[in-house]
Amino acid sequence: MRLQKDSEPWDGFVLPVSIPDPSTRTRIVLIVGAGIAGIASALALAHELKPHEPNLQITIFERHEVLSTSGGAINLTPVAQRHLDRLGVLSELDRQGADGGADVDSIELFSSRSGRSLGSIDFTDGNGNGVNGYKGRRVMRIVLSLAMLSVVERHPNMRIVYGKKLAGVSESPDGQTVLHFEDSTSATGDLVLGCDGVHSALRTSYVDPSRPSEYTGLSFLQTTIDTPPPPPLKSHSARNSTSRPSTSNSTLGSAHSYSIRSLRKSPSLSTHTSSSTPNISLDPSSPCSQLPTMRPPPFKSTGLALSRHGDLLGSYCDRSHSTLFLAAIVQINESLLSRYRIDTSPSASSASSSPSQYLTPSHVDETRRRLAIQAALQGEIHSRFSHAGHPWIRDVANLKTNWMLYPVYQVRPGGRWSRGKVILLGDAAHAMPPRDESAAYALDDAIMFSRILAHHRDESLPEVFARYEAVRRAAVEEAFSEAGRMWNTHRDMGFLEGRWKEWTMPWVLWKNRGARNAAWTFDAYDV
Ligand SMILES: Cc1cc2nc3c(=O)[nH]c(=O)nc-3n(C[C@H](O)[C@H](O)[C@H](O)COP(=O)(O)OP(=O)(O)OC[C@H]3O[C@@H](n4cnc5c(N)ncnc54)[C@H](O)[C@@H]3O)c2cc1C
Repeated sequence: MRLQKDSEPWDGFVLPVSIPDPSTRTRIVLIVGAGIAGIASALALAHELKPHEPNLQITIFERHEVLSTSGGAINLTPVAQRHLDRLGVLSELDRQGADGGADVDSIELFSSRSGRSLGSIDFTDGNGNGVNGYKGRRVMRIVLSLAMLSVVERHPNMRIVYGKKLAGVSESPDGQTVLHFEDSTSATGDLVLGCDGVHSALRTSYVDPSRPSEYTGLSFLQTTIDTPPPPPLKSHSARNSTSRPSTSNSTLGSAHSYSIRSLRKSPSLSTHTSSSTPNISLDPSSPCSQLPTMRPPPFKSTGLALSRHGDLLGSYCDRSHSTLFLAAIVQINESLLSRYRIDTSPSASSASSSPSQYLTPSHVDETRRRLAIQAALQGEIHSRFSHAGHPWIRDVANLKTNWMLYPVYQVRPGGRWSRGKVILLGDAAHAMPPRDESAAYALDDAIMFSRILAHHRDESLPEVFARYEAVRRAAVEEAFSEAGRMWNTHRDMGFLEGRWKEWTMPWVLWKNRGARNAAWTFDAYDV
């Protein structure tokens, strides 16, 4: 994979028109967005379509110049892990050793008021075996991104171009779709995949301008904290004990290997450049604090404490359980978002962290602003959770750490997913409130679309898109309603409603158990 920021052969003119014979034609696929959907689509297309079209060329355009370490940790469900395994990503994660993520056997729910267990969302059967061999895994987003990029590097027909922010789309007189980027370059291909996330420019400027993203009313307040070194763990593999063991050496493997702790702490790693790897920007507000007095959490790997003032998730995100990811899911008024928001985009981070001999007035103002925001967010956490009955939650509420705000947006179901040669995948098509499995939906999209395209490669794109939507819409719309129902339970509520939420939660978990298991055994490769 080459990283390019300057002019490219495809800049400003139309690439060759495809030749009808599938075995010799050069199909040019353009993907907008190097997130989970974008990279998974590239890898799935390479697996499914390349055997039939050896000249397939895939270019992914990513708006950021560099990767950011902000974003916290993500939970991968059994089905997400299985898909990532098929795409070759799981072995890359395992090569990261401890940083490759923590096993999650279950998410343990408990009352923040009384500490009473309210049940669990299980990623294993009664014998501790993962669903179809895969458990859950919580991993830092940056580690997952780097693992996916390592796999991209192995494909000579694939490349990622950074610093290409899509600004608009047009159709040329001969019917081609032209992508226009903010730097005034453009690209033309035979197929465009819109994987540019919840605020998708492809959706809002071209495919379906009638569906803007909307704030759900709830936000994540996130941080990660270092924990005291735990006693050595016995056996810890992301999959069952029958799966191959993971290496524990975090410096093994690809150029992307590193330790999350050292990455957060070592300024010398603040830029990570080579001809084949992206730059990494350290979020200067990247939370990291020591916990001299904090009690151990009341869960094995992941717990969710329910309260009527929002819910608090705690989850280890590395295999050695030395880093704990904390996320409060709370109702925050939309009018406060701009006041609470710290720009964690890599460009903002590198600007504010750039070494400078003198502090300019704007640096001082920015630092004051950040400190004020962090004090406000700490106050928000404190006011919501410091009266909890459970002592661990009170410890969290009193933490002196940097909380970051991540407002959660969604894209209403329905509407168009495709137009002309463009199709939307992942959050760009159907961002739903997170319930720990949206990434799996992005992976499903990538795999299912690639398989349908490969199977019907001689049909027109509108026909292929229609086939894909026919098998995908209903499942996505059902998942969206279910996610919305669960998401509502995080809202602020009165005393009685709060008690009702606690009392009924075991029943809700029991009732949804079948649907959850079905979701985790779903196989996009069956399509
Ligand atoms: C706070 C929060 C917590 C979550 N936790 C979980 C979880 O634990 N488990 C889970 O499964 N899911 C979780 N999700 C949902 C999950 O993150 C998304 O469903 C998933 O990331 C979708 O992947 P995507 O590739 O479609 O979009 P994204 O991951 O958003 O990727 C979009 C990519 O497109 C790029 N891009 C955007 N605009 C442009 C442009 N104009 N030009 C070029 N590039 C562009 C972006 O920079 C980005 O790289 C969470 C979501 C939120 C908000």
